Amino acid sequence: MADGLPILEILKFLLNVGYLVSSCVVLIISSVVIHRNAEVHLERFIDYFKGFERVDAVRELFGNETEDVLDNLKVEFGSRRGYMGVSDDDGHLFVSVPYLKEGDERDIYLDVIHELVHVKQFRNGIRLRDNRYRYANRPTEIEAYAYAVKEARRLGMSDKEIYEYLWMDNMSEDDVKALADAVNVKP
Ligand SMILES: [Zn+2]
Repeated sequence: MADGLPILEILKFLLNVGYLVSSCVVLIISSVVIHRNAEVHLERFIDYFKGFERVDAVRELFGNETEDVLDNLKVEFGSRRGYMGVSDDDGHLFVSVPYLKEGDERDIYLDVIHELVHVKQFRNGIRLRDNRYRYANRPTEIEAYAYAVKEARRLGMSDKEIYEYLWMDNMSEDDVKALADAVNVKP
């Protein structure tokens, strides 16, 4: 028992003063231990979104690399309300779980087409979130929306329906008008 005491004393000391072990791996402050090597949990796109490799609009984007791109695409599911997005860090897809559960099926399909344009932009080394532009004027968004609008028209959607699709919850009327104008949709 006596041998164990110095170790206990050292531990107590470390816990009391707050001791940083390997700056970003484990952090001990007071009596808690925080493991800081957590990773974002990613799933495979093709396990949740099936058949996109057969969609002409997708093949037109990636050509012979279509299967390869989709096989390697990762998805991060989140609990926050919202829609979808693509990471500027590594090109993975973000999907809001509430949106995936409750959103309109056709909207979700068009959003995937839109996001795949961002995946292509990322692969081409283009910065997706260029904050010099507002969302509705950002060139990467205009390109992605224009591509989704083309697919929406192929599905037979009217301009009025497409305009409603473009109008997301967090958008002002001015923004949706600017976006619709940029992608040639007349409500
Ligand atoms: Zn986008």
